[in-house]
Amino acid sequence: MKKPNDNKNNNEKSIDNVDFNLESPSNFIQEIINKGLKENKNNGRIHTRFPPEPNGYLHIGHAKSICLNFGLAARNNGLCNLRFDDTNPCQEESEYVASIQNDVKWLGFDWGKRLFFASDYFDKLYQYAAELIKKGKAYICDLNAGEVRQYRGTLTQAGKNSPYRERSIEENMNLFERMRKGEFEEGKCVLRAKIDMTSPNMNMRDPAIYRIRGETHHRTGDKWCIYPMYDFAHCICDSIEEITHSICTLEFENHRPLYDWFLDQLDVKCHPQQIEFARLNLTYTIMSKRKLQDLVEGGCVNGWDDPRMPTLAGLRRRGVSPQAIRNFCERIGVAKMNSVVDVALLEHFIREDLNKRAQRVMAVLRPLKVIIDNYPETKVEEFDADNNPEDSSMGARKIPFSRVIYIEQEDFQENPSKKFFRLAPGKEIRLKHAYYIKCERVVKDEKTGEIIELHCTYDPESRGGGTKDGRKVKGTLHWVSVSQALGAEIRLYDHLLTKANPSEEKEGSDFKNYLNPNSLQILANCQLEPSLANAAPGTRYQFLRQGYFCVDSVDSSAKKLIFNRTVSLRDTWAKIEKKGINR
Ligand code: ATP
Ligand code: MG
Repeated sequence: MKKPNDNKNNNEKSIDNVDFNLESPSNFIQEIINKGLKENKNNGRIHTRFPPEPNGYLHIGHAKSICLNFGLAARNNGLCNLRFDDTNPCQEESEYVASIQNDVKWLGFDWGKRLFFASDYFDKLYQYAAELIKKGKAYICDLNAGEVRQYRGTLTQAGKNSPYRERSIEENMNLFERMRKGEFEEGKCVLRAKIDMTSPNMNMRDPAIYRIRGETHHRTGDKWCIYPMYDFAHCICDSIEEITHSICTLEFENHRPLYDWFLDQLDVKCHPQQIEFARLNLTYTIMSKRKLQDLVEGGCVNGWDDPRMPTLAGLRRRGVSPQAIRNFCERIGVAKMNSVVDVALLEHFIREDLNKRAQRVMAVLRPLKVIIDNYPETKVEEFDADNNPEDSSMGARKIPFSRVIYIEQEDFQENPSKKFFRLAPGKEIRLKHAYYIKCERVVKDEKTGEIIELHCTYDPESRGGGTKDGRKVKGTLHWVSVSQALGAEIRLYDHLLTKANPSEEKEGSDFKNYLNPNSLQILANCQLEPSLANAAPGTRYQFLRQGYFCVDSVDSSAKKLIFNRTVSLRDTWAKIEKKGINR
């Protein structure tokens, strides 16, 4: 298995060579595999695939499927293919094909030479369809869409046979060839499997397997004007690639009899075993490419890689590492029951990962000027600061200190509440890595009453933390020296939705009604310590007391530094965990 290839740079600890955990807890799919191995099924061969439709960017739900398919292959000395399910000519775009490959690689997985497209098999699929016709198992049906619906019946009512069902094999072959040659208009006819119009499983009521489409395909151009339906193509593609375990999500459970039917009728050398698992749903998160595309095209977000998007591109830009996503996917495991996972669990894994890799620095998001009146005007001192106090291998750096500094506006209260242990008139606090300071005076704007600056004194004996008389203070604040500070823009993110479970909404209600108007907050005047001057795009940091941030890989430049907040420091998962795990 290829080592994950995350971006690397000097400021971030590289923990990217942590390999995929081959010893992770077993799941019901692994147990099915184990049983098969015992019986020497497929001669011990394990072959899976990840089969995205290139109609959008991958999201965190796909990551679950990727980790599962590539993970099972790795764990069982098997192989995993990447196959684009590009049977639908009007939706697929080359941009999506490129982004999907990029995202799978970024997650740390490697399909080697096994990159395939369903469209590579269009000739074979056509031959298989002809085989069904020749076996009397498929027919050309001229019913229009409305009639097809009528004949189909309902869940409680059997369907009726199409009047075209008994066409001869010769007539069907002739019509199918003419369909292929483009002699009929779109919608004029379809090729249908001849199964059972009375089956309690609606999927078995003579489903369409080929239809006429006039669109140009992103790979085969105008070579074809008929295209196979997903259900027909999918199982045959798996069979052609000799996939042993076709792993898919639960909604395909009642398509399985249809897949089995196709493969049983046809002369194929491999009949993959389909296994269904529950798809990942996350609170406050939309997990459908179509809806995500709606957001992109409707301008509700700034593209597929907007850091608020649950796409892998969005998560990457937000500062999430592939390791965090893999750890999360492993932790949620696979189940047979659909459920909704709390997004706080994902955030928990993001924090856990960033805690190890991110250098800790000081940044003031909403600056308030503090003048230390008894500190020499031109003096600049440098303090040593550990890059990560929990990991000495990450080294140390110097931080300049001078007479005028910034602290966080919220770290000062003029009339402090009882539990406020930060700065207030007459109160003393510790400046991280530096001195104790005491607030002597507040300067306000005469007209607005807004606090403009604080005047403080410092205790020269308190350098590095202690005092001569042993007095203690409760608060420690982060700060930045004004004359060396770097200005930056910081983007804070919140959930894209205001509703925890958007899927519980009634059919037809528009999820865009629940878009959070405050999902993006831009702080234009943030002040950073000077060590961040050369922070490379994508580098992740912990800003002390403020959370994890990363340099925006699209908009940030040496002229204008821009950071995204990946997550805050508060781990709400710990609280939730007490109540029991959501899965
Ligand atoms: P979407 O509705 O987001 O487009 P999809 O299932 O149509 O999802 P595909 O491109 O067809 O998207 O999916 C590729 C693979 O990823 C499939 O095997 C599918 O089962 C799996 N997958 C998609 N969404 C999820 C999810 N939320 N959780 C787990 N697996 C998923
Ligand atoms: Mg789909």
